[in-house]
Amino acid sequence: RSKDAGGGVVHAYEPQLHAQAEERRLLEMALRQALEKGEMHIAYQPVVDAETGNLGGFEALLRWQSTEFGAVSPVKFIPLAEEARLIAPIGAWVLRTACLEAARWPGHVRVAVNVSPDQLQNPHFVTTVASALANSGLSPERLELEVTESVFMHEGLGATKVLERVLDLGVRLSLDDFGTGYSSLGYLSRTRFSTIKIDRSFVQNASRGEREAVAIIRAVVALADSLGMATTAEGVETEAEHRMVQGFGCTKVQGYYFSRPLPVAEARALVQKRYDSRAA
Ligand code: C2E
Ligand code: MG
Ligand code: MG
Ligand code: MG
Repeated sequence: RSKDAGGGVVHAYEPQLHAQAEERRLLEMALRQALEKGEMHIAYQPVVDAETGNLGGFEALLRWQSTEFGAVSPVKFIPLAEEARLIAPIGAWVLRTACLEAARWPGHVRVAVNVSPDQLQNPHFVTTVASALANSGLSPERLELEVTESVFMHEGLGATKVLERVLDLGVRLSLDDFGTGYSSLGYLSRTRFSTIKIDRSFVQNASRGEREAVAIIRAVVALADSLGMATTAEGVETEAEHRMVQGFGCTKVQGYYFSRPLPVAEARALVQKRYDSRAA
């Protein structure tokens, strides 16, 4: 491309950049009001035992149905909420709501709630978790918090301390999207995780026959086994992928093959059905 053309390109892109910034600003304004306008709800995706297929619990996944923008993906609005410092109130709402909804389900199914690194920077987070449990009556061992490796990147030991205090409440921790973050494994010996969640990208690549992905999944399962942790394979979409991760020894599976994230009423009905069939 010639120099002349280069100058023209910059000009051509300026209005587009401006439009993007403007869209972001409007989205952020809408996000600020989303909770009070009742535009948020939680979808629950089943997590099942890899061997038996038994329902073990659900992952709570936040959904935003904006009056202005329609359905906005969490992949888009969660980072925005983090940057706009809105993740603490939104995250607290998710915790409160997921605990209240799960407390109404029979049996002992678990609910897993995603937690952003920012939420763990605030020592009040422990109080937020404790009151979500107290308000709902959900027993602590039924609540699981999902954190990613980046938690240990940003603030080093600050987050570790907060996680220690959360563990003291009797809540479980899982390590989400494992393998996509940063490579130091030291935190695995410092923080007591129940489960390592293997990111969907590894499952996908392994099922395409990529040998490196296979090697990584096997290594993670071996590591988790030796640390006394379970493993969940994320994003299992086909029967072949299910059989593959079963073969690797993953303990739990989650993905569209079993179920998409469900509205709360459907999640509850699923729990009730399993519960009734067991009671019968
Ligand atoms: P995540 O925690 O890794 O959640 C799993 C994501 O994979 C979800 O996307 C889920 O719908 C999707 N998924 C599950 N099974 C399959 C499958 O078989 N195939 C494919 N293609 N996708 C599958 P979702 O709901 O769009 O959420 C995206 C991310 O947004 C989550 O990734 C999590 O990092 C974040 N997120 C969602 N809700 C919350 C929340 O309440 N708080 C925070 N901090 N983050 C959240
Ligand atoms: Mg998650
Ligand atoms: Mg995940
Ligand atoms: Mg993931």
